[in-house]
Amino acid sequence: MTARLRLPRAQYFPSKEPALLEVREAFHRAGLRHTRQREAVYAALCASSAHPTAEELHELVRGGDPGLSLATVYNTLDALCNAGLCRRLPNVSAGCRFDADLSDHVHLVLPDGRVLDLPPEVSREVLHALPPALAARIASTTGFPLVSLGVQLIAHPADSPT
Ligand SMILES: [Zn+2]
Repeated sequence: MTARLRLPRAQYFPSKEPALLEVREAFHRAGLRHTRQREAVYAALCASSAHPTAEELHELVRGGDPGLSLATVYNTLDALCNAGLCRRLPNVSAGCRFDADLSDHVHLVLPDGRVLDLPPEVSREVLHALPPALAARIASTTGFPLVSLGVQLIAHPADSPT
């Protein structure tokens, strides 16, 4: 079986948009106060596989809530990250991107700034390529045991799918 990249479609799409009840349960479990705007931002983030920036989320959610400010989106993303409901993707040249998929998976960063998820089976293979002895050596030399492994692969322009 050949693994294929999950390419983001032209725009954001509600492929896995959670129901309001699911959003409220996630907020409740995380101890996060829920507001209509926070719920809308989180639902939009969950629905996107494009690892959107705050600005992109703002554009997306503002369509249904013209009063939503960019500052509220930033504050919401801070709160979501602090509550463990999403994460910031580091070292992305096109600005900070966010991911509500908290499973261990590998990102492929394209020259235009897009970030793709590698297929789960390929991600697992990459993540398991770190020998346990090397992980133990990293922990012993730095004093910080590894709790998870994040990998970003940067694609050369000639290699980028279109
Ligand atoms: Zn991702």
